[in-house]
Amino acid sequence: MQMAPGGNEPLNEEMIYQQLKARFDQLPNDIPIYLFTQSGGADIHTQASRQIIRAFRELTTKITVREYDISHEMARKWNIKFAPTMVIAPEKYNIRWIGAPLGEEARTFMELLVLVGNGQSGLSDQSRKVLDKVTTPVTLKVFSSAGCPYCPQQAVNALRAAIAKPENISLELIDNQAVPELTNQYDAQSVPQVFANDVLIAKGAQPEEVFVLSLQKMEPQTIFIPESDAELVETDLLIVGGGPAGLTAAIYAVRSGLNTALIERNALGGQVATTPIVENYPGFTSVGGKSLVDIMVSHALQYVQIYQGEEVIKIDTQQHPMNVQTSRRKFKTKVILLATGANHKHLGIPGEERLSGRGVSYCSTCDGPLFKGKKVIMVGGGNSAVTEALNLRHMGVDVTLVHRRDKLRAQEFLQKSMREAAIPVLWDTEVKEILGDERVGKVMLVNNRTNETSTMDTDGVFIAIGYVPAVKLAQQIGLDLDADGYIVHDNRHRTSLPGIYTAGDVEGGYKQIITAAGQGSEAAMSIFEDLINPYWLRKEKAQ
Ligand code: NAP
Repeated sequence: MQMAPGGNEPLNEEMIYQQLKARFDQLPNDIPIYLFTQSGGADIHTQASRQIIRAFRELTTKITVREYDISHEMARKWNIKFAPTMVIAPEKYNIRWIGAPLGEEARTFMELLVLVGNGQSGLSDQSRKVLDKVTTPVTLKVFSSAGCPYCPQQAVNALRAAIAKPENISLELIDNQAVPELTNQYDAQSVPQVFANDVLIAKGAQPEEVFVLSLQKMEPQTIFIPESDAELVETDLLIVGGGPAGLTAAIYAVRSGLNTALIERNALGGQVATTPIVENYPGFTSVGGKSLVDIMVSHALQYVQIYQGEEVIKIDTQQHPMNVQTSRRKFKTKVILLATGANHKHLGIPGEERLSGRGVSYCSTCDGPLFKGKKVIMVGGGNSAVTEALNLRHMGVDVTLVHRRDKLRAQEFLQKSMREAAIPVLWDTEVKEILGDERVGKVMLVNNRTNETSTMDTDGVFIAIGYVPAVKLAQQIGLDLDADGYIVHDNRHRTSLPGIYTAGDVEGGYKQIITAAGQGSEAAMSIFEDLINPYWLRKEKAQ
């Protein structure tokens, strides 16, 4: 039972009415509604629309209503195709409601009236910044239903966007039961669902910022990272790289009290983000790589400011604190952790670079669906190649593994799954050339035992043959690298330069998500201890 504000009396209907009336009385703007109906509007949706409009008109004289038949020229002018449709304040906004605001949708309708009456979107500053990047026309369709308690949150997100940017954003709020042909056309039985220019951008309710980001990127987003306008950021620790090592280090460092920032030039999560399924990270029997990354990033964001899409251009280690120039701003930092990871290794054969993105791929999760029903090869014999071959088979791709030896490096568990999935393997075979004009059409193969060459028709070549460490920055500042190109470090993750640390795949070793996370936590603790009692000063004193 609701209580009256400031007292113990329960709220009765009259009090709720008076509170709503007071709220609506204060609205500065008129709210004109044009209701389009058909054949006299005796249907249940039209009657419900009239009823709810009437109920709100009792609260305020700001609402005006005009009703037209769908055959009226106004309907042609505004391209009204379904009845009932309400067009709201069309001289200012492009907002229409298709169907009636029944059940839970009445909450959205009330919010719509309040937002239009106020003439303000109420979006957060962060959401506004993202929305400002939407500069081309977008038509949003939000499907909801009367019985969906989550729908109003998502519908109000879309409303706020349409009110904030009427010059770009048109909005159709659609009751999925009122117009079955639209619901079927968009396959929107489950609600809420949002389409932008007919592309699905969100399923389920989202926080406002995540919704706005999905709208800007025109694809579903799960995490929002606030942007920073700072030109200079001063930190104790600057982490370069947002994979499991960097993210874990950030959590540990901030919890130790270190002022920390994390920079990632690409997508957060590193290789994990494109790993189809992870089955060996404790606590998760089976989890999509991207989902695991989202969980880690959300966790890290509780602690650290992440600067994503920003690249470190130069590190000046001569100054103390060190100066770091990124593509966006400057950092001054006492220490740096390089957790830059590793990149896909290339075969280095003719046709590979030319046909990259035209049938040659290094990411089955990203590109696999394009090859459904088609024939591809997967090159490699490690955990990645086998995991990705299984993933492709799962997607309905006809995949053959091509491996240069007669034994796989992949874990037995994965090999067993591959045998069970009856994925064929070409043993002792190397790809010598990838052929095709516009797209991959064939590969030239050589048998390592017999030296026999052959060609094989294929629509795609997936390559998963390991990684090379990302050491450009490490080389730039003169860190020692080992014979395989990884950053030389001690067991406290210190590198050859005082104040520079490393963790994760860029330091070599097992390259597991759990080992990278472990190295990140170790490095953060080591950095914390060294900042309290710097080993480089101890060394200087001893000399
Ligand atoms: P990897 O274990 O180094 O295996 C690379 C594979 O590619 C090997 O079979 C290798 O053949 C082959 N290869 C290398 N260069 C080649 C070339 N030029 N031509 C043809 N074949 C070539 O690499 P990965 O599978 O990407 O795995 C990297 C790390 O990530 C590993 O530590 C792995 O365990 C880990 N990982 C873990 C998971 C998981 O746990 N779920 C999933 C993916 C990766 P040879 O065997 O003949 O050397």
